[in-house]
Amino acid sequence: MSSVKALQKQLLAWFDHSRRVMPWRAVKGKTPNPYHVWLSEIMLQQTTVAAVGPYFIKFVHKWPTVQKLAAADLDDVLAAWAGLGYYARARNLHKCAGSVAHDFGGQFPAAVGDLIKLPGIGPYTAAAVSSIAFNRPAVAVDGNVERVVSRFFAIEEPLPQAKETLRAHAAKLAEDNPRPSDFTQAFMELGATVCTPKKPKCVSCPWQKSCAARKSGIAEELPRKSKPKQKPVRYGKVFWIQKKSKEFLIEKRAGKGLYEGLYQLPTTDWTENMKEPEGNHDARLRFKRFGADVRHSFTHFDLILEIWTAEAQKGFRPRKGKFVSAGDLENYALPSLMHKVVKMCLERKTA
Ligand code: SF4
Repeated sequence: MSSVKALQKQLLAWFDHSRRVMPWRAVKGKTPNPYHVWLSEIMLQQTTVAAVGPYFIKFVHKWPTVQKLAAADLDDVLAAWAGLGYYARARNLHKCAGSVAHDFGGQFPAAVGDLIKLPGIGPYTAAAVSSIAFNRPAVAVDGNVERVVSRFFAIEEPLPQAKETLRAHAAKLAEDNPRPSDFTQAFMELGATVCTPKKPKCVSCPWQKSCAARKSGIAEELPRKSKPKQKPVRYGKVFWIQKKSKEFLIEKRAGKGLYEGLYQLPTTDWTENMKEPEGNHDARLRFKRFGADVRHSFTHFDLILEIWTAEAQKGFRPRKGKFVSAGDLENYALPSLMHKVVKMCLERKTA
């Protein structure tokens, strides 16, 4: 196997000619903007580069600095985030912008130890921002890096148990490298574009001569993964209340937790008991069961909601929420589950 120094040199040389242009990435030789690096890293969690591009552009256009984002109304931030999912991230993004603006004078801290204390920043994001934005030697291990490392060393231990082993091996490869910012980006880029989950393009890989999995012909089988636990299922009802004008009722979700502060169609609680909850949203309305349920998968559970519909007669005043048209929805942060129901009901899709 080549020495670590040689491997670093090969990866950086590959990155110098293969680096993709991204709206948040500084062009070669320019200093990265920490606000852009942080914003993109938060947006990229559990989302693809292609999906994030338009959101990133929209955010930096609306809020060109972290101070501007900190001063924005949370509802506007959530509305701009709508479609990216995992809304806790957007709420933490806003909180984090507030901390940076007020506690750090609008300048992101450079050290991992300071970054990790900010809302919504975990070990991965702290390392990514510290190394990419500030050229500090921190090792950011995302799914792409885990895949490259597990293959390069042919590590058979399955994920998630192998996480620490993979981290330690990634750190060995990154140790004392001369360009931490580029190295971190190169490592991730290699996983994203060459060492891909299916059909890795080993012939284009700068590490092909030293890669253990390629030599043994098991690259595509790695990383191994433990069988996922079956997720619990939760049940509930969602209510579509429509006026003759086609406007329908939405409301702001109260309380803490999932979807906190977002808009939704009225729903019951979601419980693990299929027969509950009983009852309908408003006794003044006559609800009918829609011909299909809506299903949605969250990280920790699957959800099945019965859809119930009712016509709101002239003069009907909801106790909570407001009637909006489909065209108004872009002004409200509605999670994708709710968009699914809106689409089904507007198109009257019953299967
Ligand atoms: S040689 Fe193939 S399997 Fe090994 S790191 Fe490169 S792309 Fe991945």
